[in-house]
Amino acid sequence: MTEELIVNRRIVLNSRPVGAPTADNFRLEESTVPKIPSGKILLRSLYLSLDPYMRGRMSDAPSYAPPVALGETMVGGTVSRVVASEHPDYRVGDLVLGYSGWQDYEITDGTGLTSLDAGMPRPSLALGILGMPGFTAYMGLLDIGRPEAGETVVVAAASGAVGSVVGQIAKLKGCRAVGIAGGPEKCSFVVDELGFDSCIDHHSDDFPQQLAAACPRGIDVYFESVGGAVFNAVLPLLNVRARIPLCGLIAHYNDTELPAGPDHLPLLTKTLLTKRIKMQGFIIFDDYGSRFDEFFKQMNTWFNEGKIKYREDIVDGFENAPQAFIGLLEGRNFGKMVVRVAEE
Ligand code: NDP
Repeated sequence: MTEELIVNRRIVLNSRPVGAPTADNFRLEESTVPKIPSGKILLRSLYLSLDPYMRGRMSDAPSYAPPVALGETMVGGTVSRVVASEHPDYRVGDLVLGYSGWQDYEITDGTGLTSLDAGMPRPSLALGILGMPGFTAYMGLLDIGRPEAGETVVVAAASGAVGSVVGQIAKLKGCRAVGIAGGPEKCSFVVDELGFDSCIDHHSDDFPQQLAAACPRGIDVYFESVGGAVFNAVLPLLNVRARIPLCGLIAHYNDTELPAGPDHLPLLTKTLLTKRIKMQGFIIFDDYGSRFDEFFKQMNTWFNEGKIKYREDIVDGFENAPQAFIGLLEGRNFGKMVVRVAEE
């Protein structure tokens, strides 16, 4: 009897984007999966995480991590099932969190894999609330933002994977949480479902005035994920000794040059100086990797107690990953963006 050939689809970086990524920056390739050698396992991707940092990997500009080479598989976190094993530590059926990237299958020796409970009810959560984005929200807010009860915490991209968690932790710490999101539907969700005190639509013509009205006692912590016009509206509202965890700058990821117009740098530095504001960037696993267990224990408890809610935006079909990723950078996702690569 002949063994059935397994075909692996992978999406590679076809060309580097100039400005916003387009479909032709990606290329779908197919190849057959070879027999796995001793000491290795074959993983079948079930869920692929799509995250804004991937835009940085598509570029060869200097950054904190090396770029994806042209023709190489796009990087990405995955939840996978072991479908064949020649490795003593893994059995067929095991569920793992790994980094297989944008592909159906990966042969690996297990380096960097985290075992998940094989019967986990929603394995995709390991890519969101119980994984990298949840960890980012937790450490950025609590270690850099250091919110005190009664303070006002403003959260950019508030309906998304990171921001939705930041505001809910702020509420658990007794703060006033004000979200910023794109559109009335996202803003309603942030207030009605997640329990923020207020949420302002950054597409509104009077967005700066609405934000000021929602923060009558100024802003003590601003969780920055966006930059651009959102940061410009936040800057004058910051209180003395405010803290700014600088998590991301998604409004600028597609920039090809510095924006034209007034130079805001003197205003920024004067505000930081006179108000004695602390602004600190962080890269979650580089800076806080050793504290993942602490985060996981606390977040798992909060989540199981219903104290933190989480929304996923699940896209079916591996071939839809490029369009979903392009949409993520344009705010078309609503919650943590995940691609369902295969049925569990
Ligand atoms: P989200 O799930 O929040 O999705 C991205 C959202 O960003 C969009 O839905 C959109 O929301 C918003 N957005 C996009 N463009 C703009 C714009 N021009 N102006 C305002 N908002 C915009 O993504 P994540 O939660 O995964 O990531 C949020 C941020 O955190 C990103 O900047 C990311 O790079 C960063 N990050 C940083 C990490 C670190 O270690 N430092 C780790 C993980 C994430 P809307 O429609 O509401 O505008």
